[in-house]
Formats: sequence, structure tokens, C-alpha cells
Amino acid sequence: MSHLMPQRHWGLWMRMHEPLGLSLRTQFVVHFWANWHMLLQWRDLVTSSLFALIPTAAMALALWTLKPFRRGGVLDFATTDGSTLLLAGVAIIVPWLAVQHLFFVYAMQRWYAPYVRRELVRRGTPMCERCGHRLPPSPPTACPECGIPLQQESKAVSG
Ligand SMILES: [Zn+2]
Repeated sequence: MSHLMPQRHWGLWMRMHEPLGLSLRTQFVVHFWANWHMLLQWRDLVTSSLFALIPTAAMALALWTLKPFRRGGVLDFATTDGSTLLLAGVAIIVPWLAVQHLFFVYAMQRWYAPYVRRELVRRGTPMCERCGHRLPPSPPTACPECGIPLQQESKAVSG
């Protein structure tokens, strides 16, 4: 296992941390504060929002420039029959949603998950802020899962 393996952010679903068995109420509180702290970091907020919007912006740009539904276009509403329009719509919307979902998962994983992990560490659950691996009460010098060096002073603090 390489100690410098880059953290993977792509996946079909986000992975914030290892299962902790938190109650629904605790999960809500943790995500509330993770959101709050991220809101205060405009750079992460703007970067992740812009990144997550790439597929939708690309789709909007494509529809705006190609105008497939315009009069005389390939999918002219007036001359194209309903089932073709429906099929074309599905063929456009489904891949766009799939790509949009992947970009959203990446953005959450890359920019939001660290806030969730930081909040859990703050509440006394030692874990790697980079990959969400659960750590023993006295953390080792490096994460056993992803190999990132761990700061010894980043132990649980009150608040
Ligand atoms: Zn780790």
C-alpha cells in the first residue's frame, strides 16, 4: 500500500466516514454544523458549487447554442412526432442526470466530507479528516487507511 495514494473522490455515492451508528438526531446536528462551517468558508463553497454545476451549465450551453427544439431544428416541436420527442428527451436527460450526479458526489466528497469529519473529530470521535477512517483514541502518526500524516494536536477539543 502506497502511503501517498491520492484520496479518491469519484464514486457512485459519497463516503463521508466509516459507519458510526449515529442516531438520526446526532447525524442532523453533525451535518448542521458541518454546513455552517462550510458556509463560513466562501472559497470551498464557491469552488464546490461551481464544480457541481459544470454538467448543468454544459447542458444549458449546448441547448442554448444548438437549439435542437427550434423551428427547423432536429427536434422541432412542430414537425417532430411525440414519441421521437419523448425518446430524445430521455436520451438527453438521463445521461445528463447521471453525469450531474457524479459531479455532485465528487463535490460532496472533495469539499463537504472533510467538514463532516472535522465536526465528528470536534465532538470526540477521532477519525482521519481526509478519508474518514476511524482512529484509536490516541491517533497514530499517519492514517492506517490513506497514509496521510496526522497532526498529534488535532485531538478532540471541546466545543
Ligand atoms: Zn485517512
